[in-house]
Amino acid sequence: MKLVIIGGGPAGRAAAMESAALEEEVTLIEKGPVGGTCLNEGCMVICGLNDVARFLNDAQNFQEMGLVDVNCDFSYEKVVHGVKETLNKIRHVTKKETLEAGIELVSAEAKLEDGTVWADDAEYEYDRLIIATGARPFIPPVNGSEHAITYKDILDLKELPEKLNIIGSGVIATEFAHIFSAMGCEVHILCRNEFLRPLEDDARNYVEEKLLKKVKIHKKISAQEINSTGVETSAGFFEGTVLLATGTVPNSELVRDSMEKGRGGEIRVNAKMETSAPHIYAAGDVVGGVGTTPVARMEGTIAARNALGIATQADYSFLPQAISLDYDVAFLQNDYSQKQSLQTDTKKDLKIDSSNLTKDQIAENVVDGRIPGSAGPGSFWRVLSSETGFSKTSVDLESGSVKKMVSIAPSARNNMSYLSMLLRLGLKTYEFNHFVETHPSTDSVYKLMRFFSRY
Ligand SMILES: Cc1cc2nc3c(=O)[nH]c(=O)nc-3n(C[C@H](O)[C@H](O)[C@H](O)COP(=O)(O)OP(=O)(O)OC[C@H]3O[C@@H](n4cnc5c(N)ncnc54)[C@H](O)[C@@H]3O)c2cc1C
Repeated sequence: MKLVIIGGGPAGRAAAMESAALEEEVTLIEKGPVGGTCLNEGCMVICGLNDVARFLNDAQNFQEMGLVDVNCDFSYEKVVHGVKETLNKIRHVTKKETLEAGIELVSAEAKLEDGTVWADDAEYEYDRLIIATGARPFIPPVNGSEHAITYKDILDLKELPEKLNIIGSGVIATEFAHIFSAMGCEVHILCRNEFLRPLEDDARNYVEEKLLKKVKIHKKISAQEINSTGVETSAGFFEGTVLLATGTVPNSELVRDSMEKGRGGEIRVNAKMETSAPHIYAAGDVVGGVGTTPVARMEGTIAARNALGIATQADYSFLPQAISLDYDVAFLQNDYSQKQSLQTDTKKDLKIDSSNLTKDQIAENVVDGRIPGSAGPGSFWRVLSSETGFSKTSVDLESGSVKKMVSIAPSARNNMSYLSMLLRLGLKTYEFNHFVETHPSTDSVYKLMRFFSRY
C-alpha cells in the first residue's frame, strides 16, 4: 500500500510514523520544517517563553518574601535567540527520526488537482491519501488588522513591547498575557464576550485573580480599528502593540470542493477520519474540533490505521486540556450533566449535602467536590498567601463515574493526562481506594477521588 501524507505537523507525522511502523511505503510532503505549528510556532514557543516567565514571577515572589535578593536583568532578544536555538535542535531530531523510520520526506508545497497530488511539478501516486495541513491564525474583519501581529510573529519581535493589547479570550491569549506580563510588559486582554469560556466560574476567577494578577482583562468590548500605534475599541483607545489571538481557520483550500467541508472550512470526517472522497482521509486542525497536538496525533494515527485497513475509531471522551501559567490549569470533561456545587475549604470539610438538590439532581446524583491545592514542589512558598490552586471534580455517586475535573496546580498538566486515560478505561471513583500517591505532591485530585470512593 502506498500512502501519501500532506502536512508534517503532529497529525501528519503521527500518521507517517504509524504507517512506517506498519512497514508501508510512505511519502510525507511538508512545505516548511517538520513539526508543524506545534514545534515551530505554537506549543514549544510558548513552553520556552513560559519557563522564563515562571522563573521571573518566582524570583519576584521570593524577593518580596525577603528570601533572596536578585536583580533579574532580562533580555527578550537573548530569550528569543535561545528559544530559536532549542527549536532548531528539536527540528533536527524530529527530521532525523522521520527519515530513520523510512519515510520519504518531500520539502515542497503540495497541490491536489482532480484527486492527483502534485509537488514541485512532480506527481505523487497513492493508494491512500491523508490530508493534515493544519490551520492558520484567523484574522477578524477589523480595519487595519495588518498592523497587528499573531502567534506567528512572536519570535520576530525585535524587543519586548512596552504595552501589549491581546485581542482574544482563549487559551493562547491567556498564555501570551501571562508570559508578557511576567516579562514586564503592560498587558491588556480585550475580550469581545466572556474570558476563558471553557472554564467554570471558580476556575476562571482563580486565573483572573491569582494567576493573571498583572494583566488587565476587559470584557465585552470590541475592536473597531487597528493602526500602528494601537487599537480603537468600543471602550476607548488602547495604545501599544496589538496581538490577535482570535482563533484559527483550517488550511483546507487545497481540496477546493472535492470533498465535504463544514461552515468554518474544516474538512468533514467520520470517526475513522474518512473524508467524503474515496481513499482520502484527513486529521488534525484541518478537520476542526479541539485543536490540540495530542488530538491531532491521535487522529493522524487513526487515519493511518484505517487507511491501511485496520479499523479504528477516534474516541473524544475525557480529553485532557491544559493552560500553562505560573501553575497549570488542566481540565477534562465527559458531559455537561447538572450538578450541585459543594465548596469545601479543607479536607476535613469534605462532605456531601443533598438537602438542596433538585429531584432531577438526586436522580442523577451528580455532585461537585472541591479542595484546595496541596503544599508541595512548586506551591510550598505560596501556602502563606493561600495560592496553592485547587481541584474540583463532578461525579455521579450512583455509578461512580466522573463527569468533569479541573485542577490548578504545578503538576496538573501531567496528572490530568493519566486521569484522562484511567477515565477512558472506565475507572470508577471507588477504585481510588487503591491509590498510592508520591509525597509531597501537588496533585489534590486523588484526595477528592479517595473521598468519593467512600460513597
Ligand atoms: C500559539 C499556539 C500555542 C499552542 N499551544 C499548544 C499546547 O500547549 N498544547 C497543545 O496540545 N496544542 C497547542 N497548540 C495547538 C497545536 O499546535 C495544534 O493543534 C497542532 O499543531 C495541530 O497539528 P496539525 O498537524 O493538525 O497541524 P499543524 O501543526 O499546523 O501542521 C500542518 C503542517 O502542514 C503543512 N502544510 C500546510 N499546507 C501544506 C501544503 N499544501 N503542502 C505541504 N505542507 C503543507 C504546514 O506547513 C504545517 O507544517 C497551540 C497552537 C498555537 C497556535
